[in-house]
Amino acid sequence: MATTPQVEVHPGKLLIGSKWVDASTGATFPTVNPASGETITHLAEAGPADVEAAVRAARAAFEEGPWSQMSASDRGKLLYKIGDLIEKHIDEFAYLETIDNGKPIFESRYVDMPMIADVFRYYAGWATKIHGETIPVSGPFFNYTLREPIGVVAAIVPWNFPLLLASWKIAPALAAGNTVIYKPAQLTSLTALKFGEICQEAGVPEGVVNILTGKGSVVGMGLVQHPGVDKISLTGSTETGKTVMRAGADTLKKITLELGGKSPNIVLDDADLDAAVKGAYNGIFYGKGEVCAAGSRLFVAKKLHDPFMEKLIARTKKLQPADPLHPKTRLGAIVSEGQMKTVMDYIEIGKKEGAQLVAGGERASVGNGKGNFVLPTIFDGVRNDMRLAQEEIFGPVLATIEFTDLDEVIREANKNPYGLAAAVWTRDIRKAHYVAHRLKAGTVWINAYNVYDPAAPFGGYKASGFGRELGMYALDHYTQIKDVWVNLKE
Ligand code: NAD
Repeated sequence: MATTPQVEVHPGKLLIGSKWVDASTGATFPTVNPASGETITHLAEAGPADVEAAVRAARAAFEEGPWSQMSASDRGKLLYKIGDLIEKHIDEFAYLETIDNGKPIFESRYVDMPMIADVFRYYAGWATKIHGETIPVSGPFFNYTLREPIGVVAAIVPWNFPLLLASWKIAPALAAGNTVIYKPAQLTSLTALKFGEICQEAGVPEGVVNILTGKGSVVGMGLVQHPGVDKISLTGSTETGKTVMRAGADTLKKITLELGGKSPNIVLDDADLDAAVKGAYNGIFYGKGEVCAAGSRLFVAKKLHDPFMEKLIARTKKLQPADPLHPKTRLGAIVSEGQMKTVMDYIEIGKKEGAQLVAGGERASVGNGKGNFVLPTIFDGVRNDMRLAQEEIFGPVLATIEFTDLDEVIREANKNPYGLAAAVWTRDIRKAHYVAHRLKAGTVWINAYNVYDPAAPFGGYKASGFGRELGMYALDHYTQIKDVWVNLKE
């Protein structure tokens, strides 16, 4: 085992207003380390009364607290400070994320946490640059717009990139002057609590950031249905997205949805073989494949297929799941027993559908043998209409499909309900853009996979959701426009 920092996990409390409190019912739930099956600690299970209290606190902070009076410049400084404090406590954050989610410490320490700090700093810069316009209307009028915050924002987040995906919502929401109720996934709430501590250390005023741990059906749904919540920003499964839209209709919630994916990764016959193999490998096995944008449908040109697969399989067989806290580990534990069962079920489905299992396909035993480890798995000879190619698995399972014709592969790549991301590997610049323009996806990578930046927008086409996170585009979803008319005639 690697050495680990000593981290005080904040006792299972909720952050409501400026206070850490127990759930009103006193209920708690365990959070488990997926690499060992051991219970890490117990967290407060918020109920309807806690949702009510958090909405009241967030509403009061938005309407009348110091936050509502704070200058954009001071909001920016506060966001920058949050970024700095995340960096200061980076080892603790990374440790908590890894024991809670099972992702390698390499990923949480060197990818997730640095980006979270950067996301806060990026939006710190935006706080002073959110403004309206003057509009040349007809008649003796002066017309201008104000770009105002929406109000109370509920940030509902999944378990795969727990604090990272929260930062994509909380940072722009705060930059624009909203207040936030942050609801982490039940499986991975530890970094949310640590984040609450950081907000207090930074001096975020009372009620501006509230944190409710607990069930999606109670806390998440409670926020979605509450008339005091103005906006829901959800990252989660497409099913949850649909439920949230339906339930949000009664109170006409403003909604942003970042949902599932089954992203095509297309290797054309003139691709740089080694680069494309590495891209296919990282595209599916980074983050255990529990990545909404995972390149889980790999299309390989027939001409390149055999040497490509030989290299990809050899590389994959060297990737062994291991203790997520070890700095050399590159494949950690599946987040939960339930998710591992889903992954194993899909492997069986793939075999039954007649796809050819060429790597992995089994569980692995690591450490005490009680963790949720699965070997990195590749299927070859997949058809695009198989469930293996159509449904989101959310695990380290790759479906490989051979193709011959460029337009045909574009058609097949688009033949899927999702449209989150896609990639194309080629040395031909014309073909690269031709494919990029025709793919129905919110992000297209050319000769790259899984690259992100706080300034680059991210979000889905089709069943992968709507609205964009990151970049200046996210600010549109946390502000509303007021148009003001001034009569200039006496
Ligand atoms: P999930 O939909 O089960 O849960 C997401 C969040 O919603 C959790 O906090 C959960 O408690 C809450 N929730 C669940 N039911 C709810 C309800 N009825 N009302 C309100 N809130 C509710 O998703 P998950 O299993 O945590 O995460 C995996 C899914 O997230 C995958 O489908 C994946 O593709 C998707 N995802 C998408 C992106 C993206 O940016 N598009 C990023 C990461 C994950």
